[in-house]
Amino acid sequence: MAFASSGDLAAKEETFAELAPGVYALTAEGDPNVGAIEGPDFVVCFEARATPVAARRWLGRLRERTDKPVRYLVLSHYHAVRVLGASAFGAAEIIAHTETKRLIAERGREDWASEFARMPRLFEDPDSIPGLTWPTLTFTDRMVIPLGGDRELVLVHCGRGHTAGDIVAWLPHERILFAGDLVEAQAALYTGDAFHTEWASSTLDNVQGLGAEVLVGGRGAVAAGADAVFAAIAQSRHFLDELRRTVGAAHAARGTLKDAFQAAHDALAPEFGGWPIFEHCLPFNVQRYWDELDGIDWPRIWTAERDREVWAALKDS
Ligand SMILES: [Zn+2]
Repeated sequence: MAFASSGDLAAKEETFAELAPGVYALTAEGDPNVGAIEGPDFVVCFEARATPVAARRWLGRLRERTDKPVRYLVLSHYHAVRVLGASAFGAAEIIAHTETKRLIAERGREDWASEFARMPRLFEDPDSIPGLTWPTLTFTDRMVIPLGGDRELVLVHCGRGHTAGDIVAWLPHERILFAGDLVEAQAALYTGDAFHTEWASSTLDNVQGLGAEVLVGGRGAVAAGADAVFAAIAQSRHFLDELRRTVGAAHAARGTLKDAFQAAHDALAPEFGGWPIFEHCLPFNVQRYWDELDGIDWPRIWTAERDREVWAALKDS
């Protein structure tokens, strides 16, 4: 099997939606989603895509609706496919969690090389990337952007989850939530840099507690309606719980990493195997939760070389 998503070369169909007046999302059949929220004389963009060229295609769609300047670009977390297109937005401020800035400093270069090798299709014109993306505004718990009248955008850190520094963008007036990679809608979860136990419990509880009626996950279609939002959050939690149960059992029985991978694959594939990036993510997911069980709190850095080693150990043997 081709390494990670390197064999996935078919372009995905993009769907542009106006979720409420001045609130936009672009979804793409399991490729990373992006969004935008209009203020009185500015726009807030959520997520930046992998390259400036890929970002400009999204901005082209957005510019059919509004020509207000992008004042804020919000990055939900540090992963390359969501941040390296940032220069295209010309944003006055780039907002992220303090831990995201720390992760970019610590492992931004390595993550760029790793993600480029795992998902080359997302890196449209990789030479257009000017360098790492550096947040200009950071926070730890919560930040509010007034949008005029009784509208506001609330950026919230719900706890550690997909990474140490995930933030969600919440519109309480419209009850719309941009959840980043903390919630996926009919797409597999990537947990290679995750804090599984916290994510599956208090963090998703906090996401749920916002009471969204429309949810844009990191990948997959928009979940519209309270039932669909509930289902997307439940699906994400169930994926994590099954991964924890199977890998945890193999670890407790002093089995091998390969045993754990096989058990997780057997348990998850019937329900999730057909969803985007499932096969690609699972080896990295199992390795990271195994590390957590070994007492490694801070995720080890994925490099292009370590990616290949784990893939070879779990997928090619
Ligand atoms: Zn991510």
